[in-house]
Amino acid sequence: MKNFTKSASLFERAKKVLPGGVSRNTLLRGDNPLYASRGKGCMVLDVDGIERIDFANNMASHIHGHAFKPIVEAVSEQMSRGMAFTMATEAELKFAEHMCGRSPSIDKIRFVNSGTEAVMAGMKASRAYTGRSKIAKVEGSYHGAYDYAEVSQAPTPENWGDINRPKAVPLAHGTPGGVVNDMVIIPFNDPEQAISILDEYKDQIACVLIDPIPHRIGMIPVKVEFVKALRGWTQNNGALLMFDEVITFRSEIGGMQARFDVKPDLTSMGKMIGGGFPVGALAGSHEVMEVFVNGSLPHSGTFSANPITMTAGRVAMELFDAQAVTRLNTLGNYARANIAEAIKLADVPACVTGTGSLFRIHLKDKVPRNYRESHSSSTGKRALAAFVDALYDDGIMMIHTAAAALSTPMGNGEIDRLSEAVLKSLSSIKGLVEEPK
Ligand code: PMP
Repeated sequence: MKNFTKSASLFERAKKVLPGGVSRNTLLRGDNPLYASRGKGCMVLDVDGIERIDFANNMASHIHGHAFKPIVEAVSEQMSRGMAFTMATEAELKFAEHMCGRSPSIDKIRFVNSGTEAVMAGMKASRAYTGRSKIAKVEGSYHGAYDYAEVSQAPTPENWGDINRPKAVPLAHGTPGGVVNDMVIIPFNDPEQAISILDEYKDQIACVLIDPIPHRIGMIPVKVEFVKALRGWTQNNGALLMFDEVITFRSEIGGMQARFDVKPDLTSMGKMIGGGFPVGALAGSHEVMEVFVNGSLPHSGTFSANPITMTAGRVAMELFDAQAVTRLNTLGNYARANIAEAIKLADVPACVTGTGSLFRIHLKDKVPRNYRESHSSSTGKRALAAFVDALYDDGIMMIHTAAAALSTPMGNGEIDRLSEAVLKSLSSIKGLVEEPK
C-alpha cells in the first residue's frame, strides 16, 4: 500500500477520540484509512492529493456521484429557508408522491433517517399488524444494525450448523436470548428447505424478510422460484413479505421487485433515495401502513422527513428516471463482461456476480450460490484486502468486499479503466489467492 502521510496523521489524531479511530468499521482499511478532501461526479480526491474513480459511492448511496449540481442547487435553496421544523413540509409530500408513483407496492411511505431504521420500522410494523413476534430472514443477509436484523448476519463454520437448518447466531456479544429466539433463519434460494423451516413456526411468524440481491451473500440475485414460494407461504399463513431494497431499489424504476411477478407487503429503502443525505423509508400497502397511526405502532423521529433530505431525494429520484436506470444497467452489463475478461486474462481463480448497476468480485473460481459458499477463510480475506488495496493504488475505489455500485456520471471510459486495474491488481496478488480444491 502507498504511503499516505496526511491521512496517516489524521488517523493518529482520530485514534485518540474515536473508537478505533473511525465512526464506521467498514472504513478501516488495514492500518491506514483514507480521508476524503472532495468529490465531483465519479471522482474523489483524498487529503494527500490522490484522485480515484469512485465505484464505492458511499456504500452505494450516490446514484449521481458527488456534488451533483441539481441537488446542490435545490438543497442550497431549501437550506436558506431552514433545515428542519416541528411542522410538516411540502418537500416531504412532493417526494412521497414521486415515490408512490414508482411502484404498485407503494401505496404509502414513511420516511426515516437510515436503512437500519427502515428495516426496524418494517419488522415492528409487521409485528404490530400480525400480533406475532418472529421474523424470518435469510442466512448471511445484511439488513442494518437493529438487534434482530443482525442475527445470522455473519455466522461462521464454527457456529452456523446444518445448512438445511441454519442456526440463529447473534452478531454482538450480549445480544438478549429473546432476540435470537425470535429470529428464524432460512437458507438462500432454497425454496424447499426454507418452506419446511417456516412451516415449523407457522403461527408465530410476523414477516419474512428478503434482500433481492444480498451483497454479503455474494450479490447473487434471488431466484424467482424462491420469491414466489415465500410470497405464497406468507399469504397462506397470515404473515407479511418484506423486501429490503435499501441497496437494490436502483435496479429498476420500481426497485428489484419489479422483476418478479409478486408484490411485497412492505419495502424498506435507503441509501440512494436520499440524494446523498441520511435517509431511510418504509413503504407498503394502505392497510399495513395504518399501523403507524391506528395506535398499534406509535412511531416518530426528530429528523424524519426533514426538508433537506426530502429535497435532495426527490431531485435525485426524478433524475434517475427509466432512461437513466436502463443506461446504468447496460453499463453494469458492460462492466461484468469486461471484468470477466480481465479475470480470464489474469488467470486467477475469481468470478464476478451482480446484476444491473451492482457487481462484486470474488476470489473464487465458481460463482457462490449462498452465504456459506461466498464465505472466505482468513487467507481468502487477506487476499481480497490486498486486491482492494491494489485497486486503490491504481486509482480505483471499491467497497471493502470488492463490491461496486455505478453512478450516472460514469461511462464506458471509467469501466475500461476499472477493467485494466482489475487485471493488473489480480495479477499482483496471484500468489495470495487460494487455488480451488
Ligand atoms: N439493508 C441493507 C440491504 C443494507 O445494505 C444496509 C446498509 N448497507 C442497511 C439495510 C442499513 O442501512 P444504513 O446503513 O443506512 O442503516
